[in-house]
Amino acid sequence: MRRVVILTGAGVSAESGLGTFRDVGGIWSQYDLSEVATPRGFARDPGLVHEFYNARRANMRAAEPNAAHHALARLQRAHPSAVTLVTQNIDDLHERAGAGAVVHMHGELSRALCAACGARWDAPELMHPADACPACGAQATRPDVVWFGEIPYRMDEIGRALARCELFVAVGTSGAVWPAAGFVAEAAEHGAETLEINLEPSETSGLFDRHLRGPATRVVPDWVETLLG
Ligand code: NAD
Repeated sequence: MRRVVILTGAGVSAESGLGTFRDVGGIWSQYDLSEVATPRGFARDPGLVHEFYNARRANMRAAEPNAAHHALARLQRAHPSAVTLVTQNIDDLHERAGAGAVVHMHGELSRALCAACGARWDAPELMHPADACPACGAQATRPDVVWFGEIPYRMDEIGRALARCELFVAVGTSGAVWPAAGFVAEAAEHGAETLEINLEPSETSGLFDRHLRGPATRVVPDWVETLLG
């Protein structure tokens, strides 16, 4: 089995009922991203930001992993040392499908973070600006998600995986959000073959060697079956 890095985006969770950025009428389009997904927006109106993520957490808990999440988990379980699964998603559907190690570069909806002391804990169902940090008591708790203008998590680890992978696969991601949009070029520079799995061409489609078009729940299980033989 070749060493593979798989990067997933909102498209892998779309068929579980969690909308993508581009979904017309979806939860993302009901809010202004600069108000709910930036440090400035949080400073201005923490109540609104908590309300947004509370709604997303409730959606996540009501959703189930789909066939694409299950297939990726099967692949990772079959070859744990060869497969690095990186996601831009803040939902927990990869884990609930049985994936072992998932690199959540944009954080996790199911976790909370204290902006004052850096403590992390499991997020309650509903978060509120008046919540006190369980470690230091400060009323500075936030969802443990990476906002626009913040540095994604675990970039060193991802960089090392991209440098040594032989195959890079992007599933259901638009290639519009950096630095994840740059991973395909980084992997290719190091000699990896690159494959894009998406419903439609993305902003970075031209950088991939191969493309598989169609819904993730159909295309991903077929691709995993081929790989596992
Ligand atoms: P995006 O919304 O920008 O793009 C989604 C991509 O998925 C598009 O290219 C679209 O063609 C494709 N797609 C849609 N349905 C698909 C399907 N059924 N099968 C295959 N492909 C499909 O999402 P992104 O690239 O992940 O970047 C946006 C940012 O939004 C990320 O930072 C992510 O953290 C965040 N986000 C996360 C979630 C989540 O956690 N579930 C949901 C929405 C947005």
